[in-house]
Amino acid sequence: MNLNLTNKVFIVTGGAKGIGAAISKTIAGEGGIVVVVGRGKEDNLKIVDEIIRNGGKASYVTAELSTPEACREVIGFTIEKYGKIDGLVNNAGLNDGVGLENGSPERFFGSLHKNLSHYYNLAHYSLPHLKKTKGNIVNIGSKVAVTGQGNTSGYAASKGAINALTREWAVELLPYSIRVNTVLPAEVWTPLYENWINSLPNPKEKLEQIISKIPLEKRMTTAEEIADMTVFLLSDRSSHTTGQIIFVDGGYTHLDRSL
Ligand code: NAP
Repeated sequence: MNLNLTNKVFIVTGGAKGIGAAISKTIAGEGGIVVVVGRGKEDNLKIVDEIIRNGGKASYVTAELSTPEACREVIGFTIEKYGKIDGLVNNAGLNDGVGLENGSPERFFGSLHKNLSHYYNLAHYSLPHLKKTKGNIVNIGSKVAVTGQGNTSGYAASKGAINALTREWAVELLPYSIRVNTVLPAEVWTPLYENWINSLPNPKEKLEQIISKIPLEKRMTTAEEIADMTVFLLSDRSSHTTGQIIFVDGGYTHLDRSL
């Protein structure tokens, strides 16, 4: 299947590591141009070098996305360099463990800014450009939005809002033929996941327990499997799919618990 991504321009937040890195590489492998956005300059440089060495096209913006100004700069950079935006992948996020009991109002709002505000801000600032290309938006959510996890109110609230905004934006942007979808992972081995599991009392046992409950093949989802769905949704081969929340999780969230 030809995804028709050649020379189309895609912004991938958190695009240097984990799921975002897999999305960046998959877009580039399909001929698209990637703007990697992340807060680690070395991480950004490394992935852009790798993509270019493999014959792809990419550049990066180093930014902590929790302020509107940073988001505006990302869009400004992309337009100045490439003159257009064909797609936005809102992916950067952090399961930062701001709970109800162990958190505070200040930390809760801090978590919303790190996990949620930039999804809105980047969509807002890229909208005039997406209207010109009939581009589209893919958000990366989390199963936590529908299952809860405990001790992570800021992250859960952000991911719940991302599901709601997927439907809301899909409706608002119908007149422009801009599609909006969310890909929702559950258990994917990435630097974020490794840090989270190691923060638990018995990480090895906990990991084995989680994996034993993943119905399809008793294994974690790979970052590449999340990337493949994301890039399909970005492409015009999914031209009549909008407002969808797609669980790429080996059946972890919905299938029978006794499996
Ligand atoms: P990751 O390995 O930590 O990669 C995320 C990247 O985004 C990192 O480079 C991180 O920078 C960057 N980042 C995070 N917040 C940022 C911010 N506010 N501004 C700029 N850069 C930021 O995480 P991942 O596991 O690939 O997760 C990617 C997405 O998938 C997240 O939205 C996460 O909620 C979602 N997800 C993941 C899983 C899973 O099992 N891994 C499950 C459900 C949902 P630093 O390295 O500096 O932190």
